[in-house]
Amino acid sequence: MALVNEHFLKLPGNYLFADIAKRVNAFKVSHPKVKVISLGIGDVTRPLAPVVIEAMHKAVDEMSNKATFRGYGPERGYDFLREAIQKNDFLPRGIHIDLNEIFVNDGAKSDTGNIQEILRWDNNIGVTDPIYPVYVDSNAMIGRAGVFENGKWTDVTYFPCTADNNFVPQIPDRHVDMIYLCYPNNPTGTVLPKEELRKWVNFALRNDSILFYDAAYEAYITDPEIPHSIYEIKGARKCAIEFHSYSKTAGFTGVRCGYTIIPKELTAVTVDGKQRVNLNQLWDRRQSTKFNGTSYISQRAAEAIYTPEGKKQIQETIDYYMENAKIMRETLSKLSYKVYGGVNAPYLWVKTPDGMDSWKFFEQLLYGCGVVCTPGVGFGPSGEGYFRLTSFGNREDVREAMRRIAEWSLKK
Ligand code: PLP
Repeated sequence: MALVNEHFLKLPGNYLFADIAKRVNAFKVSHPKVKVISLGIGDVTRPLAPVVIEAMHKAVDEMSNKATFRGYGPERGYDFLREAIQKNDFLPRGIHIDLNEIFVNDGAKSDTGNIQEILRWDNNIGVTDPIYPVYVDSNAMIGRAGVFENGKWTDVTYFPCTADNNFVPQIPDRHVDMIYLCYPNNPTGTVLPKEELRKWVNFALRNDSILFYDAAYEAYITDPEIPHSIYEIKGARKCAIEFHSYSKTAGFTGVRCGYTIIPKELTAVTVDGKQRVNLNQLWDRRQSTKFNGTSYISQRAAEAIYTPEGKKQIQETIDYYMENAKIMRETLSKLSYKVYGGVNAPYLWVKTPDGMDSWKFFEQLLYGCGVVCTPGVGFGPSGEGYFRLTSFGNREDVREAMRRIAEWSLKK
């Protein structure tokens, strides 16, 4: 008799965005004339950069020719891309990453979700709260999170990040084995300065813990003092894995490409305490069993963004989104909303008026002005009382959404 993995049954019924879509659809049915503007979901809207399109066309042509056709590629990714990553994303920051420490993937979601497989199921986990839901859900699926009760997982240590602590998570006073950090943060749009990141690295080194550092939004950092990589912190090579994505950096949500860094120094101990196991090798073993590499076309596309022209073109798109963020920040602040983020990240994290619960505000905004936000509580218990807006929309939609929100807020 095949038994189901019942840990899956502990997951809350609906994925957050499916729940939102259902409610938006119900609204559309009852209000067919209203043009709904979504500032909710984190997908991009601008087309790919011309250099990327050109590189993809060229790669497709190569595939059509017997002499240049490519089949399975190396599981860790092609050298041309890994060399570009090494040279452009790390060396200028004084970080040396070996080519064999770079694992090219099909986007950060797969690796941020799968990485926990190489550590024992009975490690305990900690997350900053609110947070991108994949980290907790993927651990829940293997039984590490306990049960979901009153909006919280019983076996997860939450590090609350709210306006009260200026969105700076407090270092735990007890042992946590696996810690997920995401900076710039989704959903709060906030960042951590070097001295705060240093505290986490020191904690991990002291406790033999592992940090999973998601840098998916590092391209949006504008403050020169804010680190783009955890490896800017001394000692991080011994305790941290870092994830990168081209999805928001270069509009690759539909192309699919990213990469993960696992330094060679990183190890974890066996349960009897007798052996330290190299996690780079373990992940390589996992990947060569379960993953056959990222498409050649996607990797050529990613390589193109590191050319001088490519860098310029993707920056233009990032600037476009950040101008959206500025427009939203300014409008909402003028309307007396308390707004966070949106300076070093494409997300705005906003307090609901009068402490209203976040789903209630979601409904009011939808029915009051046909604008979709993401209720903060969907990202964790400390997200209650907040909502998230993304700056990935079209400029006209952003302006129209702000106009409607202004009119609606002033009328209330
Ligand atoms: N990490 C964070 C924090 C994200 O917000 C997202 C996507 O929204 C991802 C990872 C996944 O990105 P990808 O498209 O590379 O899988």
